[in-house]
Amino acid sequence: MVWLSPNLADLGDLAPKTHDSSGGDDDESWTNAILSSKVPNKIMLRLPRLASAGRSLLYNSTRSLIGSNRFSAYRLASTLVFAEHKDSKLEESTLNAVTAARKLGGPVTALIAGKDADKVAVSLADTEGVDKVVYVKDDAYEHSLPEDTAALIRAIREKIGATHIVGAHSATGKNVLPRLSALLDVQQISDVIGIEGEDVFVRPIYAGNAIATVKSADPIKVLTIRTTSFPAAGKSGDKKAESEESSAADKSALSEWKSESISKSDRPELASAKRVVSGGRAVKSADGFKVIYELADKIGAGVGASRAAVDAGYCDNSMQVGQTGKIVAPELYVAIGISGAIQHLAGMKDSKVIVAINKDPDAPIFQIADYGLVGDLFTIVPELTKKL
Ligand SMILES: Cc1cc2nc3c(=O)[nH]c(=O)nc-3n(C[C@H](O)[C@H](O)[C@H](O)COP(=O)(O)OP(=O)(O)OC[C@H]3O[C@@H](n4cnc5c(N)ncnc54)[C@H](O)[C@@H]3O)c2cc1C
Repeated sequence: MVWLSPNLADLGDLAPKTHDSSGGDDDESWTNAILSSKVPNKIMLRLPRLASAGRSLLYNSTRSLIGSNRFSAYRLASTLVFAEHKDSKLEESTLNAVTAARKLGGPVTALIAGKDADKVAVSLADTEGVDKVVYVKDDAYEHSLPEDTAALIRAIREKIGATHIVGAHSATGKNVLPRLSALLDVQQISDVIGIEGEDVFVRPIYAGNAIATVKSADPIKVLTIRTTSFPAAGKSGDKKAESEESSAADKSALSEWKSESISKSDRPELASAKRVVSGGRAVKSADGFKVIYELADKIGAGVGASRAAVDAGYCDNSMQVGQTGKIVAPELYVAIGISGAIQHLAGMKDSKVIVAINKDPDAPIFQIADYGLVGDLFTIVPELTKKL
């Protein structure tokens, strides 16, 4: 893999300040520098949040700076999408992966494996952008254990001669695709947020504080894509993709599925919720989280948390938002008693509208918030819930 932005130190004064998320002068000088082409054109960096118009202006401008790399040669790409399923249903994240695969230009084959793979294959065949579905109906793949699943993807890839393998940057994708990359002896390109050509990809680094454009020289590209960066593929209507059953690959005895314990909730799933209400350390206890749940239920939102709240045991770790938690980009994100550390911002800064409630007017979260309420959360949140 060739890094187009090899050394931040070379940027001198233009290098980003360590983790300044202020969105103030730094952002402005960066925007100006990039727009006036003072930034070497092989380097793309973006400081955190600008107003959304500014963000898209900056992003589009930086994209044009590397225009020579864009859409150059969609000649030979042929993509295999690793489809995920749960409870015999296609996972929504696969639809995002299909959109990303489509951007590579060539034909798209989707692979689904599990005990009800034939049923899930029907939804896949009905997905816009999927040219062919390969399904492997076998209990052994039901839980996507990386040892067996990676070997299966490798076998199917070989069979169809795919040049790219695309999966979601989900827990399953992050579990399976690195093993596949190792089997193929290629480097995985993780958390891709943009596809500029068949070998040029855009991905965040430094917890989203900089955006790198990377070029891969590997013969086979294995990508995990950030689902919030690619819209879900829709239904294909009358034009159904052809489906083909395939046999299982050799299985390994390296791992075995025992059981899983999943916290159940009637609330919208955090990763795909259109509205998210998150609580931080300031909520103080599991009991204190009631105010967060009450507001979330009032507006039909999923519930998230900062790592500090999770580590303190106020809520389940499946609720963690951030660099080491889930990445969300809902229409509305309400951060309550959350300071706005960069690791938290990495998971929510692409939300369309951000509301922050914090008693400290200087809390960094206000620098990326569209609306802010300064005050004690235990007074403000119940009042807000009542008024909504
Ligand atoms: C490698 C690494 C990975 C990490 N990954 C993540 C991650 O994925 N997600 C994540 O969230 N963090 C992550 N962190 C931790 C992160 O650095 C912060 O420590 C964490 O986000 C802080 O959580 P917080 O904002 O809830 O707590 P604090 O930083 O303690 O902030 C609490 C905020 O609540 C406000 N407050 C206090 N009382 C009240 C009140 N009564 N009413 C209103 N406001 C009040 C305070 O003013 C303060 O701003 C990671 C750290 C590291 C090193």
